[in-house]
Amino acid sequence: MALDHAVIVGCSFGGIATAGVLAEHFDRVSIIERDDIPDEPVPRKGVPQSPHVHGILKLGRDILDDIFPGFVSDAEREGAPLFDWLAKGIGYTTSGWTVRGHSNVRGFGIRRSVLEHLARRRALALPNVEMIRGDVTGLVVGTARRVVGVELANGETSVLDDADLVIDASGRSSSTSKWLAAAGFAAPAETLVNAFGGYASRLLRIPEDVWPDEWRFIGQLPLPRNPKGGILYPQDDGLHIISLFGQSRIYPPGDEDGFAAFLNECETPLMHQIVSAAEPVSEIRTSRATANRWRHFEAIVDPPVGYVALGDAAACFNPMNGQGISTACYGARTLVETLTDFDGDLERVSRVFPTRLAQRMEFPWQVALGFDFQFPATAGERPPVTPESEEQAHYVKALGELITADVDAAEALFLWTQTFDPEQIRRPEIVAKVEAWVAEGRRPEYTDPASPPPNPDRAA
Ligand SMILES: Cc1cc2nc3c(=O)[nH]c(=O)nc-3n(C[C@H](O)[C@H](O)[C@H](O)COP(=O)(O)OP(=O)(O)OC[C@H]3O[C@@H](n4cnc5c(N)ncnc54)[C@H](O)[C@@H]3O)c2cc1C
Repeated sequence: MALDHAVIVGCSFGGIATAGVLAEHFDRVSIIERDDIPDEPVPRKGVPQSPHVHGILKLGRDILDDIFPGFVSDAEREGAPLFDWLAKGIGYTTSGWTVRGHSNVRGFGIRRSVLEHLARRRALALPNVEMIRGDVTGLVVGTARRVVGVELANGETSVLDDADLVIDASGRSSSTSKWLAAAGFAAPAETLVNAFGGYASRLLRIPEDVWPDEWRFIGQLPLPRNPKGGILYPQDDGLHIISLFGQSRIYPPGDEDGFAAFLNECETPLMHQIVSAAEPVSEIRTSRATANRWRHFEAIVDPPVGYVALGDAAACFNPMNGQGISTACYGARTLVETLTDFDGDLERVSRVFPTRLAQRMEFPWQVALGFDFQFPATAGERPPVTPESEEQAHYVKALGELITADVDAAEALFLWTQTFDPEQIRRPEIVAKVEAWVAEGRRPEYTDPASPPPNPDRAA
């Protein structure tokens, strides 16, 4: 396979991962980015979500580590902790506290700006990858419905018109539909589901003696009975981040008093307790970019040749389940697999990739919608109920209770959500435990939001 030039719009995780995989197949890979990218790992305008917590799932971590060997160790050397999720964290759900114990589920704590900086550095160190500063404003179309480049504004308007493949990785607010329509192509239909969620976040330094037990992070997503939640999560450089989450238009405020009051009204009082004794080291920043949007490229009957979209530009999710970076990286992997399977035949790649990507986005989409439709204010069309979806919902509900008592079950559930692999929760020993839990009519033990389970080592 000998391909000449790939042009990627957007130099964030989708664009960086795509550059990493395409560099092996194209002579030249150009990433067009409209932001001035600073040398330092600091938040920037084009990724306004940067000051908020970014948990990186095993799926995304493993893909980044495959593309850029040693990437996770690099991040650890920069001070990013990789830790045992069930031993070091406490999590409160509708069913109560998740059991604590030793597991193979890892959390990875790093400021998003630092993670992005490290990944970008690795991509731009590849000899055939370059970054071009510019704001993409449209597509350049050649003969035979082929996209051959992009128009960009970088001081003056110019065109880049020698691309074999253009990849839109320009994020949640991508202008892809506008660009396609202006170039005479069908724009993708969209599905929008909005739970009207919001974030407010700040970085903290937490003195070691403030922690009452061996845990070092707390998670409590918004609950249907109380749409105020958040996560207090470790970061690089010994920092923590507190991100408050509200659903159903209960937006966490960005002022000091409002922030503290919201924190105090979360279901568990423990986040408020720790944060009150911590030293804030950043401003409070807010975001309401939480709607789920799927652009259905897979449904376009006659798509352009040489143009695909991935990452948030293809589908974005309510980020409270932490799936976006991993899905963007999964998109890059799916693209290179498709390219390899079709030996670089870009006409077939352009047709098949959107369908393959759609299949792989189904899982994070269902997770996000399953979460959001617990809240009555959520706007959008509910997925149809089928016997299979009903069985799955009952099974996952019982599993959600079982994880308050059983470490193997908790490990299975978190590995499922961290890898998108349905087999994780359908292994025979887990199914048997779920069935026994239901048959015995057992109820969760640790349901008091102020009293998490004890440290597993001390409890043993
Ligand atoms: C509040 C919040 C919290 C989140 N928390 C998590 C989390 O915990 N875990 C997780 O995995 N994900 C999380 N996400 C989602 C995650 O941020 C995104 O899914 C991820 O960054 C998507 O990457 P991307 O490359 O597709 O797009 P983006 O990261 O949005 O990047 C798009 C890039 O394209 C550039 N660009 C845009 N338009 C143009 C143009 N016309 N020309 C040139 N360049 C352009 C932008 O400057 C930017 O660099 C969160 C999102 C939000 C809003």
